[in-house]
Amino acid sequence: MTTAPTAPAPTAPPTPAVALAGLPEKATAALVWQTCGAAGLIEGLYDDGGGIDPRRLAELLTAVDARGDNGVTLSLLVQAASALPILAAGAPANGPVRDALDSVRSGARTLALAATDSAAPGSDLADLATEVTIGPDEIVLRGGKRWITTACPAGWLLVLARHRPGRHFTSFTWVLVPADAPGVRITPADTDLLTGAATGHIEFTDVRLAPEHLVGRPGRAMPAFARHMGTERLAGALWARALTTRVLADTKERLTRRLVDGRPLWHNSSVRQRFATCLVQVGQLHALCDTLAPRITRHHDLAAAALLKSAVGLTVDPVLSVCAQLQGADGLLHDGAQRIRAEAAVFGIGGGVTELLLDTVADHADTWLTELRA
Ligand SMILES: Cc1cc2nc3c(=O)[nH]c(=O)nc-3n(C[C@H](O)[C@H](O)[C@H](O)COP(=O)(O)OP(=O)(O)OC[C@H]3O[C@@H](n4cnc5c(N)ncnc54)[C@H](O)[C@@H]3O)c2cc1C
Repeated sequence: MTTAPTAPAPTAPPTPAVALAGLPEKATAALVWQTCGAAGLIEGLYDDGGGIDPRRLAELLTAVDARGDNGVTLSLLVQAASALPILAAGAPANGPVRDALDSVRSGARTLALAATDSAAPGSDLADLATEVTIGPDEIVLRGGKRWITTACPAGWLLVLARHRPGRHFTSFTWVLVPADAPGVRITPADTDLLTGAATGHIEFTDVRLAPEHLVGRPGRAMPAFARHMGTERLAGALWARALTTRVLADTKERLTRRLVDGRPLWHNSSVRQRFATCLVQVGQLHALCDTLAPRITRHHDLAAAALLKSAVGLTVDPVLSVCAQLQGADGLLHDGAQRIRAEAAVFGIGGGVTELLLDTVADHADTWLTELRA
């Protein structure tokens, strides 16, 4: 009797740390994305319904953070936790949006999320001026976006535009724009911080595309954005946890080696207490991540996401400032703790400033008080 040949068992993707191990130290955001995509690590983040697995997301962000290029980590975070899920939610079975989705998931192309508008403060998205005119045979995009992560190397731009005037949440639409389409001009942001994120400003001058480049139904952009914003906020918290832990570990190691009057600085009581305070703050963030992650990923609980992002904004800066101070002059070295602290300002600005998030926490004060009493 012959036995039928059995299909080889599908191989599990490598761990993120293994997949990234062979990359050069200065690998670009596009190369890191390509490597993760080719290893199945991007596809592996999502379940069949498009929901994200917090454990895998944390593992991926921790491995990318360990490479020490904050700009590259920011690029991966925005693509994996925000841009891709929004694109996936609006992708039909065929056409350019589906093709773009496949190419980004596989790592072959990169995708930038272009929401913050040249004509309005980022804290007031509903005032944005970038507009899309929707005709039967073509759509035309005009306007501009600023401070867009991954704009410079992006193959695709996912652009938030208005298709009618007014601040009502149904006035907005996502448009998928090939970065090399006629009328698109991308200028690198003039900054020395987070350079690996290849952040840029984008102008759209009469960009003409087929209507198939609309992502989701016109008018559904803001609800789709809000629905996936929680995932980006969770990703930010998971990255903040990894980054602060890495810098704390580095700081402790330096304090242990640094001798003042023959004794390691680590034995100085005041130093230990300041360090311990940071550990408590990061421990609280860690606990909040674990408690709130299922509510954010499974139930799209935006109040929970706002609380978590507020906690990130209130934790990262004081912790990294103490670390940088405890490293003395060495904190000012190239790519040292002072630079990390400055780059980490993005936690309190990108994707919603801390003050705006705290407003949302206050909006839900009664709900939180009820929970705290339970
Ligand atoms: C490195 C980096 C990467 C980014 N990547 C992207 C991206 O990929 N895609 C994208 O679309 N955008 C991106 N952004 C833009 C980001 O989302 C905006 O910068 C952010 O929303 C804040 O907008 P703003 O800079 O216009 O600040 P503003 O809205 O002008 O606010 C300025 C300051 O005013 C204060 N403020 C604002 N509102 C309030 C309030 N209600 N209460 C109290 N104080 C307030 C805060 O202190 C705030 O920092 C990025 C920004 C940075 C710095």
